[in-house]
Amino acid sequence: MKIVFASNNKNKIAEIQQLLPDSIQIVSLEEIGCFEEIPETADTIEGNAILKADYVSKNYGLDCFADDTGLEIKALNGAPGVYSARYAGEQKNANDNMNKVLSNLKEHQDREAQFKTVITLNYKGQQTLFTGIVKGEITYDKSGDKGFGYDPIFRPTGYNETFAELSAATKNQISHRGLATQKLLAFLNGLT
Ligand code: IMP
Repeated sequence: MKIVFASNNKNKIAEIQQLLPDSIQIVSLEEIGCFEEIPETADTIEGNAILKADYVSKNYGLDCFADDTGLEIKALNGAPGVYSARYAGEQKNANDNMNKVLSNLKEHQDREAQFKTVITLNYKGQQTLFTGIVKGEITYDKSGDKGFGYDPIFRPTGYNETFAELSAATKNQISHRGLATQKLLAFLNGLT
């Protein structure tokens, strides 16, 4: 079965492909000739995942899934949340974003945070949402060089390492995107 994954992020495509069986072929936006920027103008993570999946289904007539992720920090009232990619500005720089989080949390003892991923699947005209959450805390310093985004400052509950210090395999098993993808996978396997 072929399904479009509405993403241009090579890290995410690689991570998600590792989690799916060969019988499910992921087709990238490039492969369907979609080079335009898909609007991500909703003010919730769910809303953006729906916008992206609907854009591909409506404009290309294809089955599709799209994901959207945010880092939600309790002491910052859920920020950066839906604005995680551009928290420190439109340059969307991971280092700038992490520096802003560390600076905003300087006075805070409460380091509780979670990553949330929502995947929206449009399959045969039916829309289904899958949510994955991983709880953890924001560290005081950056640590590790694996992964991407906020990985060097997020330590998942039950681990001594940040996401950037864990292997890709371990991160995939416990991560927000891994959990949401496992739910997507269970659903797709039920269809075949
Ligand atoms: P997206 O919706 O998956 O593009 O994620 C939005 C932003 O959240 C990204 O630009 C990253 O800053 C951050 N993010 C998403 N997933 C991860 C992750 O697995 N680790 C660290 N940061 C992430």
